[in-house]
Amino acid sequence: LFSGRVDFLLSAPQLKFLPEPTVPEIAFCGRSNVGKSSLLNALTGRKSIARASVTPGRTQELNYFEVGDPTVLRLVDMPGYGYAKAPLAVVDKWKKLVKTFLRGRQVLARNLVLVDARHGFKDVDRDMMQMLDGAAVGYRIVLTKADKLKASELDRVIAAVEIEARAHPAAYPALHVTSAETKHGIPELRAAILEDANL
Ligand code: GDP
Repeated sequence: LFSGRVDFLLSAPQLKFLPEPTVPEIAFCGRSNVGKSSLLNALTGRKSIARASVTPGRTQELNYFEVGDPTVLRLVDMPGYGYAKAPLAVVDKWKKLVKTFLRGRQVLARNLVLVDARHGFKDVDRDMMQMLDGAAVGYRIVLTKADKLKASELDRVIAAVEIEARAHPAAYPALHVTSAETKHGIPELRAAILEDANL
């Protein structure tokens, strides 16, 4: 499915701009710079369908991508969180948008929480997971940039993240370890997404 049609659909700054909820959606979230754009590109086999949201204005939008012809799946690139210098008003607006999306989006099949393998969980990730625990949809934890660590270091991060994830009721126990660079874990994550979307 991912080797077929994948197109950018729209950027929604507010929930009223979301597409009609006609197909299952998988949402991607994570700290800014976690490697979300790179992962989306790797999953869809494109070079630059998703681009790093560097301009502050774009960071507050939900970016939609469509998969299949006709469309059978949508990928939602959620605004990155954890900007060191984001003004409180911006953070509040982000929280409101994401919370309402998570609670109210009927077609949301799964969330993916991306975590930089070099850093493991940060407090902003913990906040995000707490928000997700309160939503109706389970989430998968995806380690990104796994190629940047030695095997022994990676093993240590995986163990720590898995232990902490167990305390989160809506988190999947099994981690996904990925690299957009080497494509490690990408086929497995594609398969998991299709399963989550009942495809
Ligand atoms: P975003 O802000 O979450 O969309 O992050 P990007 O996808 O733009 O990635 C942030 C930075 O990390 C960029 O410099 C990427 O080249 C780098 N990066 C992303 N994924 C990987 C990866 O799997 N391996 C390595 N080595 N670098 C990565």
